[in-house]
Amino acid sequence: MWALNAFVLVAVLQLLGATAGTLEAYPSNHLETSSGASCEFAQLAGAVDADGLRTQIDELATFSDTPAPSVTRILYTENDISARTYIKDSMKSAGLTVREDAIGNIFGRWQGTEETSVVGTGSHVDAIPYAGKYDGVVGVLGAIEAIRALRKVGFTPRRSLEVIMFTSEEPTRFGFGCLGSRAMAGSRNIYEILEGAMDKDNISFTEAARTAGYLKEGEDLKSVAVTNETYSGFVELHIEQGPTLENEGIAIGIITAIAAPASLKVDFKGDGGHAGAVLMPFRNDAGLAAAELAVAVEQHVLASGSIDTVGTTGVMQIHPGAVNSIPREAHLEIDVRDIDEDRRDMVVEKIHQSAKDISNRRNVELQSFDVVNQDPPAQSGATIVEAATSASDELGFKSKHMISRAYHDSLFMSRITPTGMIFIPCHKGYSHRPDEYSSMEDIVRGVQVLALTLAKLSHKS
Ligand SMILES: [Zn+2]
Repeated sequence: MWALNAFVLVAVLQLLGATAGTLEAYPSNHLETSSGASCEFAQLAGAVDADGLRTQIDELATFSDTPAPSVTRILYTENDISARTYIKDSMKSAGLTVREDAIGNIFGRWQGTEETSVVGTGSHVDAIPYAGKYDGVVGVLGAIEAIRALRKVGFTPRRSLEVIMFTSEEPTRFGFGCLGSRAMAGSRNIYEILEGAMDKDNISFTEAARTAGYLKEGEDLKSVAVTNETYSGFVELHIEQGPTLENEGIAIGIITAIAAPASLKVDFKGDGGHAGAVLMPFRNDAGLAAAELAVAVEQHVLASGSIDTVGTTGVMQIHPGAVNSIPREAHLEIDVRDIDEDRRDMVVEKIHQSAKDISNRRNVELQSFDVVNQDPPAQSGATIVEAATSASDELGFKSKHMISRAYHDSLFMSRITPTGMIFIPCHKGYSHRPDEYSSMEDIVRGVQVLALTLAKLSHKS
């Protein structure tokens, strides 16, 4: 039955991306839907349009701590709470049944005809300081829009479809990202980390969550975890945050793997001293040890043999930081990513070895070498990649398989269910900045592919 209707859905979803003017040219046409009812093309024209989605994206962007066009929305702040209310209202108006968990993940469910594992979709709406309005938002509002589209065409889900707005994908407030999805996936250390976490104003995570109406007395963070049987699959729509799709003129990116970072913190300690008085043979300069390690990071990454290995020394601080003082202490923070966990971990091990060698050779103490986090990368689920690829093909959009080099909530969802991502182009790859931009045409194409992908997954046994 479903195979028959796939054709119909494609036709309708194509129309959803068309303008009202185009649709008016076919006023008498109507389509069979899964419920057996027919629906007029003309009705669809007013039902789902780019304008409605654009308005929602613009309205959501007004909940910001900084002036437009920038968006700043930090976990559990007033603007974050307002944005949450907005999302819940949008879900309800799309006919979804809304609930929240103890950490503030928001779920909007469209009940399917069968009580079985659910198809999930969604993203985040928090934004780092002075970010843009599309990152994450397209995957939440776009998912709700996809549900609206499916409803309008009379689609009946077999597996329930569920839109998720994840809590705090960005690490801004408590220094740790993807809080909501990590907690859902039952990530071992996240509960302990959050229990002790403080923000820069010394407000604890628990206190902040309570202010926003979550983690109530007697509620346990561990209750957020879901079982591996909850979802049959998960798919996240997201802007690319890189320039590839735009440069190559491709509408849709289908993610086959998500790279994951290992983050390191390293501290060196030397004796310091006067920049004039201490002669070169008698120095143990912590700053030079740090500089040498930063170069070693690059060398080990380049030697990995794969273009997919990347490494960055993003923080390098020296103390006391005076022109006439030999650096006594140095602090580095290093990020290493790859889609191959063993290869990435081998690079981390080489960096550790270099830190020890440099410390010995320069007679500088290696005070600490901490692996802050070392998440496994994710391979997308074959069923999700297949569904998204055929959805894109059937809608007539050019797509390519690619790797996500940034990580997303999908990285953690992939621990509990087959997961995939759909990327759309974003202008010049700009993201996490106020001029982040995706055209409505690109967003609508992404929503159409998402809608058809969800429809396929909903009917997949
Ligand atoms: Zn994002």
